[in-house]
Amino acid sequence: MRQFDGKRLLLATHNKGKLEEIDNLLKDYPVSVVSAADFGLVEPEETESSFIGNARIKAHFAAKATGLPALADDSGICVDALGGAPGVYTADWAETPSGRDFNMAMERLWREVDALAAPEPRLAQFRCTLVLAWPDGHDEVFEGVMPGQLVWPMRGSQGHGYDPMFQPQGYTQTFGEMDRWEKNKISHRADAFRKLIAGCFT
Ligand code: IMP
Repeated sequence: MRQFDGKRLLLATHNKGKLEEIDNLLKDYPVSVVSAADFGLVEPEETESSFIGNARIKAHFAAKATGLPALADDSGICVDALGGAPGVYTADWAETPSGRDFNMAMERLWREVDALAAPEPRLAQFRCTLVLAWPDGHDEVFEGVMPGQLVWPMRGSQGHGYDPMFQPQGYTQTFGEMDRWEKNKISHRADAFRKLIAGCFT
């Protein structure tokens, strides 16, 4: 596996929260994290139908455009009873003409699972794929998972996205009820990051 031996790592996201979270995860390593926004990069279209495919598009686009190794992630929730949906379309389910509405998306998700009379527990996983790409076209891929179940009604107001309807396996609280730091330690993103660090930053 190729080691990261540069000084600067480009994070292929325009999301400030992700930048802060990743900066924090890499704070013990001699690397400075710079963002796509620092380079005025546009966001490429995510045209693939898998997390890996879309993370690869974002990471390779940013690495080629800047000449720096670039890290991209793609994530979402996959529901067993729906054959893995919404998956890569997780954010799309929340789109409205006036912005994203995650209450609407969660209601739809529960409605669709209910319509199938899926037995409880209604199993689901949050998934995260990280791709570290170099300007020469090489990449390394890491996948993180947090298994759990959907719950209804939604519970908790912390976190973001689908957190209030997801109860991680082995816990009684939903992600929406959990302290942010506790969630960040056990999440699908943390799982993928542990693998990235073990693979490329040791
Ligand atoms: P993206 O990886 O930024 O494209 O995010 C995909 C979508 O998945 C987000 O908009 C969220 O709706 C959802 N998602 C990803 N991770 C989480 C999480 O940890 N909690 C809740 N929703 C999440």
